[in-house]
Amino acid sequence: MDIKANLQTVKKSFINPDCQLIAVSKTKPLPDLQKAYAAGIRDFGENKVQEIQTKQPEMPADTRWHMIGHLQSNKIKYIAPFVHLIHGVDSFKLLKEINKQGKKIDRTIPILLQMHIAEEESKFGFDGSDLEEMLASDDFAALSHVQIKGLMGMATFTEDVAQIRKEFRSLKSLFDSLKARDLPRFVQLQELSMGMSGDYRIAQEEGSTMVRIGSAIFGARNYSET
Ligand SMILES: *Cc1c(COP(=O)(O)O)cnc(C)c1O
Repeated sequence: MDIKANLQTVKKSFINPDCQLIAVSKTKPLPDLQKAYAAGIRDFGENKVQEIQTKQPEMPADTRWHMIGHLQSNKIKYIAPFVHLIHGVDSFKLLKEINKQGKKIDRTIPILLQMHIAEEESKFGFDGSDLEEMLASDDFAALSHVQIKGLMGMATFTEDVAQIRKEFRSLKSLFDSLKARDLPRFVQLQELSMGMSGDYRIAQEEGSTMVRIGSAIFGARNYSET
């Protein structure tokens, strides 16, 4: 696996060269992350707290850790001191827990709200009514140690490009309409995290500001070994 060459190929194929690349290194061994780091990558995406905990001390201090997976409340505390961005905040309950952990260590934790845009039932995230309910609540207005930097979403796993495009477009349109609203100061919508190895070009065409790319950089993952 020539990680450096893969990175070049991926970067060259970007529709939007300013779109931020998060290298998704979940399940991959440290030497793979080090190769990507040597090739200039600073942003790494992981989906397991335990894996971030073992990799983080081994990587240079300017490595930025993105938590992209479903996060369990009882594990927030392990990444709260250093995590760069939590992409998968998929419930108000989780957001409140993150706020609580942030308060404990006096750190404002940057997060993205994960929206449910796919047809698949299995994908996590807020739907429109969950979101409105949260935005209208007093508990939301009282949050003090989170910064909501944008939205994240995953399209349906399908070959149907029109379907994927439609889902990304709906997320972008929600993003734009939220941006136009009068929301608390800790909501600063700048980032739209959408696009993975199979669909990042479509996502960029639809306005993504961050793509989370794993297998196109590090090769296929072998879950049976982990
Ligand atoms: C694994 C994962 C990715 C990367 O997937 P690839 O298809 O390997 O690029 C992106 N986002 C999330 C949320 C993931 O869990």
